[in-house]
Amino acid sequence: MKEKSLTEVFDENYAEIMNNIAASAIKSGRKPEEVILLAAVKTVSTELINYAIEKGIKVIGDNRVQELVSKEQDITLPVEKHFIGHLQTNKVKYIVGRVSLIESVDSVRLATMISKQSEKLNVVTDILLEVNIGEEENKSGFKIDEVLECLTEISKLGGIRIKGLMAIPPICTDCEENRKYFTKMSQLFIDIRDKKIDNVYMEILSMGMSDDYETAIECGSTQVRIGTLLFGRRNYV
Ligand SMILES: *Cc1c(COP(=O)(O)O)cnc(C)c1O
Repeated sequence: MKEKSLTEVFDENYAEIMNNIAASAIKSGRKPEEVILLAAVKTVSTELINYAIEKGIKVIGDNRVQELVSKEQDITLPVEKHFIGHLQTNKVKYIVGRVSLIESVDSVRLATMISKQSEKLNVVTDILLEVNIGEEENKSGFKIDEVLECLTEISKLGGIRIKGLMAIPPICTDCEENRKYFTKMSQLFIDIRDKKIDNVYMEILSMGMSDDYETAIECGSTQVRIGTLLFGRRNYV
């Protein structure tokens, strides 16, 4: 049997994921269009990214600065770009002004650097605060009990606007296990939203990846970040 091409794989996976997103959204009492699919494009070729955009992908996310910058010229179709990886403070200058959302702000220091660079360029940068929801030792993100205090501090900085929260729960074997983390994130998101803090817009709750996006949506995610399941298994070089 003939092996499927990358675009055929994408077409099939994309249709199935969109159906599942719709079903999970409805299950959680929301409209399908209230949940955004971000295509995580690490190691994906720009040809395939352009194809995906042509087919309807509206948001892409990169997690490496170098890759984002080098691909920029070759992504020829209009698309919203997010930065989703760990961002070192010395790389902030390459990202501000290049993406419409930085999803992985994990320290007040990083937020301060983004603020300074945004003011320098005369732009406002939208950010999400990353929460280390599983309280894992070697994972970045704010601790749950420090989120509110740090968020309040960050909200006072110029050139920056907090649009929500992002989380990567622990790697799961049975992905139902992550339901408790997703639920906790959702509660935190709603609690902060109810506080109506000036310059804090709790609109985006970014959680859920290839293995657990349906559970995440059922728990209240408004944006899932999917790579492997859309584009096929990555070939690491
Ligand atoms: C790669 C990546 C994803 C997508 O992961 P998959 O398991 O390939 O769907 C989501 N979020 C972040 C931050 C990533 O780096």
